[in-house]
Amino acid sequence: MAKKSNPATRRPASAAAALLKSLGITAVSPGVFDGEWSGSGPLLSSFSPNDGRLLAEVRTATPAESERAVARAHAAFQTWRNVPAPQRGELVRQFGNALRAAKRELAMLVTLEAGKIIAEGQGEVQEMIDICDFAVGLSRQLYGLTIASERPDHRMMEQWHPLGVVGVISAFNFPVAVWAWNAALAAVCGDPTVWKPSSLTPLTAIATTRIAERVCRANGVDPAIFSLLIGAGATVGDRLLQDRRVPLISATGSSQLGGRVAETVGRRFGRTILELGGNNAVIVAPSACLDLAERAILFGAVGTAGQRCTTTRRLIVHESIRDTLVQRLVTAYQQVNIGDPARPRTLMGPLINTDAVLDMQAALAAAGQAGAEILYGGEPLTGPKYPGGCYVRPALAAARHDLPIVHTETFAPILYVMTYRDFDEALAWQNEVPQGLSSALFTNNVREAELFLSARGSDCGIANINLGTSGAEIGGAFGGEKETGGGRESGSDAWKAYMRRQTATVNYGARLPLSQGIHFGT
Ligand code: NAD
Repeated sequence: MAKKSNPATRRPASAAAALLKSLGITAVSPGVFDGEWSGSGPLLSSFSPNDGRLLAEVRTATPAESERAVARAHAAFQTWRNVPAPQRGELVRQFGNALRAAKRELAMLVTLEAGKIIAEGQGEVQEMIDICDFAVGLSRQLYGLTIASERPDHRMMEQWHPLGVVGVISAFNFPVAVWAWNAALAAVCGDPTVWKPSSLTPLTAIATTRIAERVCRANGVDPAIFSLLIGAGATVGDRLLQDRRVPLISATGSSQLGGRVAETVGRRFGRTILELGGNNAVIVAPSACLDLAERAILFGAVGTAGQRCTTTRRLIVHESIRDTLVQRLVTAYQQVNIGDPARPRTLMGPLINTDAVLDMQAALAAAGQAGAEILYGGEPLTGPKYPGGCYVRPALAAARHDLPIVHTETFAPILYVMTYRDFDEALAWQNEVPQGLSSALFTNNVREAELFLSARGSDCGIANINLGTSGAEIGGAFGGEKETGGGRESGSDAWKAYMRRQTATVNYGARLPLSQGIHFGT
């Protein structure tokens, strides 16, 4: 089971203990919810990366409890699918309001457990609220088409039905928002969710599920529509992948995880939404506004301590402005206040655990061996301001575009800088990595901008002009191509993945004409 490798201080600070209590988390909390709370599997400890302290322990799911949770979610589906979609939307509206009421506390728990700065913790909960609002509107718009039939006296239409139980596997870096993207949409579409959160962030998942449970109970709805299974990926997660009662698995995590999910779920002809790793580039062209570019790169590369799937990992800058932009970035990096993410003025908190610090060091060493030059930072930070061993200085490194390490997603704040001469070369470099999530171009040249967005431009799921790679809105469909997995979540018509499409034709005539003009029989 994944564990934080921080040196454990075995008690939460008193403020943290009060916060946990207010969110319904006890020193040892049950980690399974399927209408009732249970958990008899091994204990999982959740440590804060902010100071290495133990926050609480969780009793994980046994195989029998995992089995029962899916069975109960499946049973809940039999009822939930018959509830009119706008009524399902009303439940989600109330859930959004409950999140509004708990925003401050839940955001602080995200900060404590995932190490996000408080503004980003609040942003994460706001994202949950926003997707609830979106889903409420959607609950009155789950519409199909009427299609012209080639046969006389026939009407052909397309309708959308609830699909079934959705398994949601989420990553540590968006411990609650990604679940909400799935769960709010699934709920209005008529589908229960069974959530397997990251073992690094079980407490935020319990707190969120408790809020959802309260709203369900107040409305007389079976709370098993928001089920929770905390446990190791390799056991609890894998069972979910193999379970034929779960027609859709939405998995967020590394590309390695995605390969496993695609293979296992594909073998049983289940559906997947895969939201996997990114290796996102910003191209800065000679005409760019450097003020905009600098701010966007700083947020993209340093925000969330470089632990977003959309983090800016590669900077492809024109040779004519390279030195100016790098100098600006070095100055900006020097001013980033690193430290306790719960303090309002902090811009960068810790990495998730000490393993992540080691991964970052290993990536920088590999880059150095391949000829990259560290331009700024990269070192672990120690001393009283940085307890727990998870703090680092963000790194800027000049590197060749084709180094293997540059083509790898290292989940840490490393920005590789490369210098280009002509725009086609920059575009080719942007597209040459295996991942295809987010991309950005800073330019005031309309030809470059339109080329970037054209069929032969960026090959990513997200392409931005004069804004950075990070910080997508929930209204658009979110996801990426290639090893990012091809899934789309959240806005636009992403809801269709959570429903079963049916083409239905009605013959209101007295004859039975066949399509394609076929005559059959005498
Ligand atoms: P991870 O792949 O280590 O874990 C993700 C989840 O998969 C966890 O819940 C884990 O327990 C589970 N898991 C592991 N093995 C499993 C198995 N065999 N069966 C079922 N579940 C299993 O990822 P992480 O370190 O938590 O998160 C970082 C990664 O997630 C990065 O690669 C990042 O880019 C990616 N990510 C992608 C998006 C996106 O929308 N594209 C969003 C956030 C994070």
